[in-house]
Amino acid sequence: MLIDTHCHLDFPAFDGWRDEALARAHAVGIGAIVVPGVTAAHWNRVLELVSGPTEGVRLYPALGLHPCFMREHRPEHLTRLAQRVHEHRAELVALGEIGLDFQIDDHDAEAQTTLLRDQLQIAREAELPVLLHVRKAHDQVLKLLRQRRLPRAGIVHAFSGSEQQAREYAKLGFKLGFGGAISYPRATKLRHLVAELPLEWLVLETDAPDMPLSRWRDEPNRPQRVAEVAEIVAELRGVDREQVAQRTCSNARELLALD
Ligand code: ZN
Repeated sequence: MLIDTHCHLDFPAFDGWRDEALARAHAVGIGAIVVPGVTAAHWNRVLELVSGPTEGVRLYPALGLHPCFMREHRPEHLTRLAQRVHEHRAELVALGEIGLDFQIDDHDAEAQTTLLRDQLQIAREAELPVLLHVRKAHDQVLKLLRQRRLPRAGIVHAFSGSEQQAREYAKLGFKLGFGGAISYPRATKLRHLVAELPLEWLVLETDAPDMPLSRWRDEPNRPQRVAEVAEIVAELRGVDREQVAQRTCSNARELLALD
């Protein structure tokens, strides 16, 4: 079995072919998909989606305020997030996606940091792991995580940091998410990390409809491609795919407490 730990199945890009995408994911052995929410306006869609027909794939929701949508967030969304987490605590497997993105032009580092810190507090109180989106800000995020530990850590989705930063996250109990980016031959640093880091630290993801694999770069990404991500990881490590699938699955299951 395989788990896609990060897929935006609620995005409009999936409207019209969500059932097909799920059926194909099921056909390649994907048993579970984590669907993160990114804005308050999206949360209902995520919650509706995971309670609807899922073609034999377990869908798990997460809710959060994503740092790439700062313009859509309002101060009251934070209170609403805490309420939603309280109401849906039994279904939610994580808080996310949340984080810092200092790669965006004209980003407001302070506003992002405040929002992240407040959401980490919600995760702490609810004892939920977090799904982190981090670009050009790993040291800042690590600093926040060290200041006050999260009881259940989380996943650094689409990991893009250094080996040292990977170790720092692992020390805090975090898993590192890898997806389509590792299929590009020019991603040498990332491919090296995937080959060398302990398998115990890794989880697989697609980030569909974003981050297509190199072979499929002209079409929107789909959750079924997590099977190819597993193959690439296995190839890079020189082990068989089944070993990668099993270990990354149990990493995700354990961290997110999936049943
Ligand atoms: Zn995402």
